[in-house]
Amino acid sequence: AGVLALSLSACGGSRGASAEAEGGGGSNEGAKIGVAMPTQQSERWIADGENVKSQLEELGYEVDLQYANDDIPTQVSQIENMINGGAKALVIASIDGTTLTSVLDTAESQDIPVIAYDRLINGSETVDYYTTFDNFEVGVQQATSLLTGLGVLDENGEETGEKGPFNVELFAGSPDDNNATFFWDGAMEVLQPHLDSGVLTVPSGQTDFEQAAILRWLPDTAQDRMEDLLTVGEGKRLDGVLSPYDGLSIGIISALTSGGYSKDDLPVVTGQDAEVGSVKSIMAGEQYSTIFKDVRELGKRAVTMVDSLMKGEEPEVNDEETYDNGEKIVPSYLLESEIVTKDNYEKSLVETGYYTEDDLK
Ligand code: BGC
Repeated sequence: AGVLALSLSACGGSRGASAEAEGGGGSNEGAKIGVAMPTQQSERWIADGENVKSQLEELGYEVDLQYANDDIPTQVSQIENMINGGAKALVIASIDGTTLTSVLDTAESQDIPVIAYDRLINGSETVDYYTTFDNFEVGVQQATSLLTGLGVLDENGEETGEKGPFNVELFAGSPDDNNATFFWDGAMEVLQPHLDSGVLTVPSGQTDFEQAAILRWLPDTAQDRMEDLLTVGEGKRLDGVLSPYDGLSIGIISALTSGGYSKDDLPVVTGQDAEVGSVKSIMAGEQYSTIFKDVRELGKRAVTMVDSLMKGEEPEVNDEETYDNGEKIVPSYLLESEIVTKDNYEKSLVETGYYTEDDLK
């Protein structure tokens, strides 16, 4: 708890300064803002887009919101169109964080500030700010919930002395999404000592990120890999599966149930995003946990950053060391996430108004 909020001085270099000059005198009030989102295949991104759009509109901005159907050339051309259409700032959740360099050069040449939304944009100087969750900590939470579900940790995160050995398989996210490595590294920091001590074993032997990664976070790919792992693991009964995203968890659970696991005797399966389908699965005792990232807060933070830039002010950040995109360390504002299981979904998701009881019926 308690993310320290620092106000940043002298960041953003000349681009920050030019945005400032431009924004001076409120000339960018009501300006057009381009918002590029990756896909509508996952609820969380639909909610992200809608939140950012409605909050910007409340502040009087005009919004060009686009979804790219997880197709990189589509996202690039959508951003080009935003620039050509007169956008004064861009908020971008990238598909592949390394493919936007050239379109961002165009943005830079027109002094259009760029905010990376949730996913870092790599290999470009032209990323002024970044807002996301503490992605390493998300991975720590995923692995912690796996160990809690297995009984290796108690609800306070203390070792119980339970020695297993437990059979687990590991999944990672899309290798072109900068977040995926952060989630993996955070999770492995927690799991590695238990793999070393033999409390956990991986029947397939697949413990490298490259082996575990699922390109574009596709549920079907995760399902196929899980089916393969059941064969590779020589039928050893699994106790847990580290999954970094609810969509993958759904694919993994399908593979497990068609591979002979009954729904009330599934391994401990983790997730991320608290998507409705997965929360229902958690309530039904199928998926074990998810990580709740309140995208209302992320949207608010991105909108505040845009509004500050448009007014010629420096956006507030709270992290200036973590997110090196290969060209610069991008000043960031990180939010906190939370482990959700059957025990606390009501308090975390319903009492906070994120979902209604009806949403979860
Ligand atoms: C996001 C996760 C999400 C994943 C798949 C990541 O970049 O941070 O919240 O589960 O993409 O959409």
